[in-house]
Amino acid sequence: MTPETTFIKNTKLLGSSKSYMKVLKFGGSSLGNREAISKVISILLNRIENKEKIIVVVSAFSGITDQLIGLSRSNQSKRSQKALQSIKNRHIDVIKFFFNNSEQQDVLQQFDNLYQELTKALQFNLQKQDELKRNQDHIIGFGERFSAQIITSLLKKNNVNTLYTDTRTLIKTNDNYGFAKIRKSISYKNISDYYHIHTDKVIVATGFIASTINGHSTTLGRGGSDYTASVIGAATSAEAVEIWTDVDGLMTADPEKVPSAITIDQISYKNAEGFSKYGAKVIYPPTIKPAMKYDIPIYIKNTFRPGLNGTLIHNRSINSTNSIYGIVTIPNVTLLTMKCRSAESVGNFLPKRFTNRNQEIKIVEHSIDNNLIKIAIINQNISESALKIEHTIQEEFNGQIDKFELFEGLSMITIIGRHASILSVKSLIARKLTLYDKAVRSMIYNKKLKTLSIFTESKFENQLLNDLHNMLITEENVANS
Ligand code: ASP
Ligand code: MG
Repeated sequence: MTPETTFIKNTKLLGSSKSYMKVLKFGGSSLGNREAISKVISILLNRIENKEKIIVVVSAFSGITDQLIGLSRSNQSKRSQKALQSIKNRHIDVIKFFFNNSEQQDVLQQFDNLYQELTKALQFNLQKQDELKRNQDHIIGFGERFSAQIITSLLKKNNVNTLYTDTRTLIKTNDNYGFAKIRKSISYKNISDYYHIHTDKVIVATGFIASTINGHSTTLGRGGSDYTASVIGAATSAEAVEIWTDVDGLMTADPEKVPSAITIDQISYKNAEGFSKYGAKVIYPPTIKPAMKYDIPIYIKNTFRPGLNGTLIHNRSINSTNSIYGIVTIPNVTLLTMKCRSAESVGNFLPKRFTNRNQEIKIVEHSIDNNLIKIAIINQNISESALKIEHTIQEEFNGQIDKFELFEGLSMITIIGRHASILSVKSLIARKLTLYDKAVRSMIYNKKLKTLSIFTESKFENQLLNDLHNMLITEENVANS
């Protein structure tokens, strides 16, 4: 073997197929106002001065997507001019703050072009249902286009060779508006080709938005900019994806509910997926998979405290002595329990039947034990959803349901940790928290994600959450230190 081939082989092992480029995604809270945007620009300029290669992905300014959704739903006659005006003012205010008189004109003109396009889209005649949905996705994607355009101009003002990138030209999806599914091979190829053509530029890309093969605008679900960043990272074999937000990272619990919660230094993809799936808001659940598949580490970082390490999500499970990593909650969960024949098939069928259909019924967890099926859902209209589930079982399985029960207004508290320890937690809870005999309505253990979910009435949530956190995390940390 020549030294050269050895070298190539070794570097490959060391991961030289990675492109030494990082994808930095900034969420709405990092783009909420002038101060936040100044922080973002200084983080970016710092990286660029250090000769780091980066791609930037941005969300809409905070609150803008909500306002656009409101506008897209109301009738033209009833539409609030105030909301439209406020969207305009927020952006113009930022432009006027950052650009001096002579620079402003171009940036304002660019903004106005997009804004005119938005007002035109809002005049659309909303008659046919499918056109309505399509037009809605078009409207709610303007927030990312506004913000990416402004961030591009700000970097250009700082002499950075920057390229505004509308991801609708790169990321292709099906036509499931509001929650579109990415067509991977074509999207990855588009992104990779684009990146390789423009290696000399800093790409500033819109998060959240994509388009169908026919060119209709789509969106990737609320919070979808994280997902965009991960997909871009995967397609370009990035060295890392950084999710910049307004908290220090993934935490052992929601610090607003559990004051003793602490930041998690590092965690595996699988566990991070559990966190986001079961209630941690810091990262959008679909984000994990593309990064995991291509082994790209994800960092969660705080825009307002950039010196902190944040949380690293990667392929190693934690080398920590602590066996429980965190506890997350989802409020207002309804638990449906039913007994029926062929429970195994019914229980496996339901989550598949109801995902990807615009999340018609949002099933957050389910289990099948003997003939008992448990399904946790987070829909607003419970009785309608329950009826739909009942009908579906009857239709599809000719199924006789022996016992159908419904518990509303529960909190779902999910414990995430190492497999065996979750099982032991189960018995520990059963032994130690006898006080909560009444509080604990039901539990579901998820073998795949190694999580244990406890369902409790919301009035018990706070106490139970804090007790569990003390018992399983704080006390363990003390014992292990
Ligand atoms: N702006 C979009 C939303 O509010 C996407 C995102 O923020 O990630 O859902
Ligand atoms: Mg987000």
